[in-house]
Amino acid sequence: MAFEGLADRLQKTIQKIKGKGKVSEADVKEMTREVRLALLEADVNFKVVKDFVKRVKERAVGQEVMQSLTPGQQVIKVVKEELSDLMGGEQSKIAVANKPPTVIMMVGLQGAGKTTTTGKLANHLRKKHNRNPLLVAADVYRPAAINQLQTLGKQLGMSVFSLGTEANPVDIAKQAMEYAKAEHHDYVIIDTAGRLHVDEKLMGELHEIKSEVSPNEIFLVVDAMTGQDAVNVAESFNEQLDVTGVVLTKLDGDTRGGAALSIKAVTGKPIKFAGMGEKLDQLEPFHPERMASRILGMGDVLTLIEKAQENVDEQKAKDLEQKMRSMSFTFEDFLEQMQQVKNMGPLDDLLSMMPGASKMKGMKNLQVDEKQISHVEAIIQSMTKAERINPEVMNASRKKRIAKGSGTSVAEVNRLLKQFEEMKKMMKQMTNMGKKGKKKGGFK
Ligand code: GDP
Repeated sequence: MAFEGLADRLQKTIQKIKGKGKVSEADVKEMTREVRLALLEADVNFKVVKDFVKRVKERAVGQEVMQSLTPGQQVIKVVKEELSDLMGGEQSKIAVANKPPTVIMMVGLQGAGKTTTTGKLANHLRKKHNRNPLLVAADVYRPAAINQLQTLGKQLGMSVFSLGTEANPVDIAKQAMEYAKAEHHDYVIIDTAGRLHVDEKLMGELHEIKSEVSPNEIFLVVDAMTGQDAVNVAESFNEQLDVTGVVLTKLDGDTRGGAALSIKAVTGKPIKFAGMGEKLDQLEPFHPERMASRILGMGDVLTLIEKAQENVDEQKAKDLEQKMRSMSFTFEDFLEQMQQVKNMGPLDDLLSMMPGASKMKGMKNLQVDEKQISHVEAIIQSMTKAERINPEVMNASRKKRIAKGSGTSVAEVNRLLKQFEEMKKMMKQMTNMGKKGKKKGGFK
């Protein structure tokens, strides 16, 4: 997971000061020394770290902390606010054109994830904002970039404007604008060419496209895994093109966090989105405050709730509750539940959003075994409908058939059946407890 080392160290540090009823200057000094080391180790820009620590120190020995009733907690609040500010404070949204289409130019080095992000962004705009974007293939240099965008367009069922690899990118952009207006696209997302390094020719070309289309946004796509290199790239692109925002990709990898924490401070430009995986729905608006909270082990309940709202159907959840109460919960329901949870993203990520999960015994090194989960899924899928609803019918030959069909063993099938029975019993106990509790405490 991203930020793991940093999160570990910062959490240890704040734990020490958290419960203190009195915080001395020496305590603050000790804490800021540790915070400084943690940030440097996470590859945060040296100057950014220096300023950050200075601000935290000033505030931590100031009145807001020293005169409060819970100084330990206040110090943590200061650290969290400053971390959030470092990443831009408020969420930074897409600037929209007064008159459509809104034009977004995607720029960045080869391999940063520009083409993929173009597709993800289009998907996000349609899914979350009900928009109709046009994708423009203006990366005529990287072999296969145009094909890649066309494939993404097909997957999404969205139009891709292309004039092949022989055309001039500025002409492509110009004609794409005319096409978008004629076809009533409200967003135009231009995938421009990248290079392996920042060079003058590339910048010249990007400048020309910029003057031709007057974009509302120029999003620089950078790879979070490259740490300070990403920050340097961001600096040079910004100097030359005056970008409007950054998309940080590959935050699902085990990046130390240096890029995320330095880019805003160094370039003055906010991170607007974060890439959290290779799939088209793995792009998230970047919320500095929530990210700060995650880094400090306070979880990210808001994102978790949003994910649940997007993926879990409320009526279905109510039906499910009813089924649990009446003990009519079947393997069919179980399978559906698993799929809904899976849609919310990798389980490791979900766990990292739960407050305190990192501190819970046994959670720390818990690697969710996605393989095991897919075995369970395969077993249920190999059952007939009748078997899913009524597992009692499963005799030895049926179990053998299911094990074969799912590529597992009879022992695994038996284990799942046993677990399922136990789960049902537990549900019954829990729902009964709920009822009793209500009766006892209930006064009308
Ligand atoms: P471009 O040269 O900048 O257009 O880069 P691509 O869009 O072709 O992406 C390069 C590689 O990075 C591809 O294998 C993508 O699947 C991968 N990639 C892009 N964004 C992400 C992300 O957020 N997470 C992960 N894990 N991979 C990503």
